[in-house]
Amino acid sequence: MEYYDCYASDYTRARAKFLNAAAAAGGTVQSFIHPDKQTPDGHPLAIDVARLGNAKASRQALFISGTHGQEGFSGSAVQVGWMLGDGPARLPSDVGVVLVHGLNPYGFAHFTRTTENNVDLNRNFIERAAAAPANPHYESLHDALKIRHWTDAENARVDAAMAAFTDRHGRDALFDTLARGQYLHQDGLMYGGKDREWSNRTLEIVVKDALVDAEKVAFIDWHTGIGEYGRPFFLCFNEPGSALFQRACDWWGKENVDGVRPHGMERPNYTGLVFHGVQRFLGNRQMCGAVIEFGTRGVNMRRVLRLDQWLRRQSGLDADLRNGLQADMMDAFCPFDGQWRKDTLAAGLKLTDQALTGLAAW
Ligand SMILES: [Zn+2]
Repeated sequence: MEYYDCYASDYTRARAKFLNAAAAAGGTVQSFIHPDKQTPDGHPLAIDVARLGNAKASRQALFISGTHGQEGFSGSAVQVGWMLGDGPARLPSDVGVVLVHGLNPYGFAHFTRTTENNVDLNRNFIERAAAAPANPHYESLHDALKIRHWTDAENARVDAAMAAFTDRHGRDALFDTLARGQYLHQDGLMYGGKDREWSNRTLEIVVKDALVDAEKVAFIDWHTGIGEYGRPFFLCFNEPGSALFQRACDWWGKENVDGVRPHGMERPNYTGLVFHGVQRFLGNRQMCGAVIEFGTRGVNMRRVLRLDQWLRRQSGLDADLRNGLQADMMDAFCPFDGQWRKDTLAAGLKLTDQALTGLAAW
């Protein structure tokens, strides 16, 4: 298996690779077609769910790609690679695997991180009965952060606003403000949405159906953008100090999971994560796992997130300019560098194996 057998160049091809690999591995597939959106060239968008191993087992793994749209090229490759390899054949008889492909298919297909409503799906899983979490510093920064033209001067203006904020509050506070999530500005960064997204509601159906018999769940949500180039970075959201957190440390190494600092900063107080949503859907059943990122451009991803938001607001942009900027974004979320793709695929397969070994022994 070569890395390019697993990596696709667009969403429709990634979907085909996933469905073909699932069929070849003897998996059962259920596809949830998006009710009203398509790919840019008119193909369907879907969340595809492949089940392998023992569907009735009390131990189930839930591995998700494409929560952040365009970041899905990497997670999709790991899922495809696992199915093309000997992963399914090596599953113990009392373990099942549920692979969710393209949780945010709109973003995946349209080369953006957010959903059809410009919602950051990984901030959308808040408790809707309560008031949306506040992000007061974001309110003071929103207007200054919104880039009006993709020029060096405009980027410098936004950078200066962030630098002024850092002078007053520190870089950890800036990172927290930018990353934790906000629920008031649809045209802003990390917007968690007014309502539950279609992807959110569909994932609840998947969890309630595919994990109905699960007592113990291993969870990975694959992302890119945090960590050293080509290396995995763990964001475990089990309660620090709890037995489940310790279990995640046992699976992947305490030094990788415990006390790690994204971009060298304090971890933001993220709200509305998929991790939290799945925990809620599972009720009192136990889930252990993490968001696993693969590093690309480090803190320079801030500029790419800004570019993503700017491109979303443009219509009638010169095609040559759009293509060039979109290629830059693709290279930021999933580098074209073959070595990055080989390294992250190999790491992803190893981390998948470690989770499954841990789940089998749980
Ligand atoms: Zn992400």
